[in-house]
Amino acid sequence: MPAQTQLGLMNRDELVAERTEQQTNYDALKARGLTLDLTRGKPSPEQLDLANELLSLPGDGNFTDASGTDCRNYGGLTGLPELREIFGELLNVPASNLYAAGNASLELMHDLVVYSLLHGNPDSPRPWSAEPVVRFLCPSPGYDRHFAICERMGIEMIPVGIGPDGPDVREIAQLAGSDPTIKGMWAVPNYSNPTGAVFSEDVVRALVDMPTAAPDFRLFWDNAYAVHPLIEDFAPSIDVLGLARDAGNPNRPFVFASTSKITFAGAGVSFLGSSTDNLDWYTKHLAIRSIGPDKLNQLRHVRFFGDADGVRAHMAKHRDILAPKFALVQQILDDRLGASKVASWTDPKGGYFVSLDVMDGTAARTIALAKDAGIALTAAGSAFPYKKDPDDRNIRLAPSFPSLDEVEASMDGVATCVLLAATEKLLA
Ligand code: PLP
Repeated sequence: MPAQTQLGLMNRDELVAERTEQQTNYDALKARGLTLDLTRGKPSPEQLDLANELLSLPGDGNFTDASGTDCRNYGGLTGLPELREIFGELLNVPASNLYAAGNASLELMHDLVVYSLLHGNPDSPRPWSAEPVVRFLCPSPGYDRHFAICERMGIEMIPVGIGPDGPDVREIAQLAGSDPTIKGMWAVPNYSNPTGAVFSEDVVRALVDMPTAAPDFRLFWDNAYAVHPLIEDFAPSIDVLGLARDAGNPNRPFVFASTSKITFAGAGVSFLGSSTDNLDWYTKHLAIRSIGPDKLNQLRHVRFFGDADGVRAHMAKHRDILAPKFALVQQILDDRLGASKVASWTDPKGGYFVSLDVMDGTAARTIALAKDAGIALTAAGSAFPYKKDPDDRNIRLAPSFPSLDEVEASMDGVATCVLLAATEKLLA
C-alpha cells in the first residue's frame, strides 16, 4: 500500500502505524522469494534481437568498402570513411574529425587519460604525471566507470552539481578558472547517466568558453546516448567542436560515442571526435598501440544502417521497447511514493537510467532492504566519486534489461523499501 500522506507531517503515533504497515508489506515482499535485478544498464535480449542481421553481415564475399579497401587486412587507423560519415552526421562532428575505432568507447577514454598522463596533450607544458597533483571535475551523480578511471590513475575528483540542463557552470568556471591542477571534466551531454540531464546550448557554450587555469584542460565529452531518446523528439547533439573552435579553445573537447546501446553492447563500434591537432597527437600514440581497428565490424555496421536515417529508424525500435518500461517506473514511483514526499526522481526523456533520491541517510538502508528481498540495486554511492554519496540519498535505477513484469515487481518492491527505510529513519 502507498503511504497516503506526507511522512514528514505525521505525528509519532501515525509514523509508528505507517512503519508497521510498511514492515508488513516488506515481509510479504520477502516471502515472495524474488530474484530481480535493476542494476544493469544494458540492452535487453529483445533489443539485441533488433540487430541480429549483423550476425550474417557483411556476408560471404563482401569485404570491401566504397573506396575499395579490403577490410580483411591491416590498416586504416582512422576507421571506415562511410561509417564516419554516418555517425559524423548523428554526432554533429565533421567526418574528417571523427575516427571510427574499436568495440568500446570506454577504452578510448581510458587511453586518452593514460596518454595525457604519460605524454601530456598538445597543450601540456609537461606530462600530467609530472604534475604534483591532477584533478578532474566530476558532475555528480555521474557514470561510475568515468570515476573509476580517475581513481585508478590517481586523479583527484572534485564533485560538482548537475541539474536538468547540465552541470553547474558557474561553479565549474570558478574552479577551473582558478586551479591549474584541474585538467579535465567528465560530461555526458545527452541524457546523462544517471540523471537524464540534457545539456542546454548555454551550458555547452559556457563550458567551451570559460577561461581555464590549466592550458591543457580537456572536456571528456561522452555522448554515449546521442541517439537514444525515449520520446519522438531527439535532443540534438550540439556542435561542441565548432563552438569550442569559435570560442578560441579548439582543442578542449574530446568527443566519444559508440554503438554499444544501438547494436550489440561490447560488440559495436566506438567513435572519437576532436580537433585536428588533438587527433594528430592521438594518432601518434595510437599508431604504436594498434595496426588498425576491426574494419569488418565497421563494414557490417555500414551495411546494416545504410545511412544516418537508418540509425534513427533503428533507434525508434529501441524506443518502442524501452519507453513502456520507463513509463512503468514513473507510474509506480508516483503511485507508491508520490504522496509520502520522501523521495524525488528524474523523468528522463532518453538514455538508460532513472535517478532516485530517497530521504537523506536512507539510500544504503533501502538498497540493503531490497537486497534481502531479492532485488539487486546498484550499490549505494556508486554514482559519486570514490563511491561516496555525501547525503546517502541517491539510487540509480536501470529498467532496460528486465522484462516489463520484472520492472513492475522490482519497482513495487523498491517503493516498499524506500518507505520502510524512511519511517525507520523518522522514528530513530
Ligand atoms: N559512457 C556512458 C555514459 C555509459 O553509460 C556507458 C555504458 O553504460 C559507456 C560509456 C560504455 O560505453 P562503451 O560500451 O562504448 O564502452
